[in-house]
This record gives sequence, structure tokens and C-alpha cells, in this order.
Amino acid sequence: MTESAITEKFWELPFSDLSYHEWELLCDGCGRCCLKKLEDDDSGEVHYTRVICKYFVEQQPLHCSCYNERTVLVPQCLDVKKSDIASLSWMPDTCAYRLRQEEKPLFSWHPLISGSGAAMADAGISVNGKTVSEEFVYPDGYEEHIIRWVGA
Ligand code: SF4
Ligand code: SF4
Repeated sequence: MTESAITEKFWELPFSDLSYHEWELLCDGCGRCCLKKLEDDDSGEVHYTRVICKYFVEQQPLHCSCYNERTVLVPQCLDVKKSDIASLSWMPDTCAYRLRQEEKPLFSWHPLISGSGAAMADAGISVNGKTVSEEFVYPDGYEEHIIRWVGA
């Protein structure tokens, strides 16, 4: 199977113009969307925690150990392509899909712009080394793990 051609600066194009491969390349692999979130019942505000999905694997390019079955094994896990991305205002404010949906440019550290993962690592965007697996935290204890380094 041959890989489809990639359009120059495809990350500046509308979603509708992207091939499947280009769409997948937009993801920076930060892992932030795999963190557990809490929603304030009154304000609706979303708070990220450092508790992460048990299928998340650090140091792997894909991060997810069940990628093809993820929405089956983890009902809360999103297939972003199939979702109404306009309604995903709780996605991390650094997420490439959210940025492009809001017609904002990618950050200079994004691997597509910087050319490697080094700038992203320097900017502290990846969750690697900063999380605790959901296997070790009771769901009613998530509040103790709320973080400020990911915003919605
Ligand atoms: S937050 Fe966005 S860019 Fe980061 S891993 Fe999730 S989908 Fe990819
Ligand atoms: S199933 Fe995979 S993609 Fe979904 S939240 Fe868990 S680690 Fe992330």
C-alpha cells in the first residue's frame, strides 16, 4: 500500500481538505487528552488531573496500547475524527485539533512546525513522567490530583 502525498503546510488547511494521513499527523502525541478530567457541577468548568488512562504507555510514539479498540474498551475515549469537534471545548488548549478547529495556528513547538519532538519536550507539553495511572487512584480521589499545567 502506498502512502498518500502530503500537501505542503497541510496543517493550515481546513479539516475538510485533509487526507486521513494528514489528519493523523496533526496529533502531536502529547497524551493530554488521555488524562482524566473533572467537571464542576455548577460552573461546568473542566479541570484536568494527572490521573491517566490505564492504556496509556509512556515513551511509545502512539502512546495508546489499545488504539484500534480504544472506543470500545474505554467508552469515554474519543475518536476525534468522528466527533463533533466544535463541541470539544474541554480538549486541552494546546491540542492541534482544537486549535485548528478554532482557526488558530499551531504552536511553534509542534513537531510539524519545529521538525522534531525536541521543542515540544522543552516546552513541557508531553505528559510523560508527570502522571499516575488510574489503576492506582480511586475515582473519588481524582480531585486530589487536579493539575494546572493543562488547561481546557
Ligand atoms: S491532546 Fe490533541 S494533540 Fe495531544 S495527543 Fe490528544 S489529540 Fe493528540
Ligand atoms: S484508550 Fe488510549 S487513546 Fe483512549 S484515553 Fe486511553 S490511552 Fe488515551
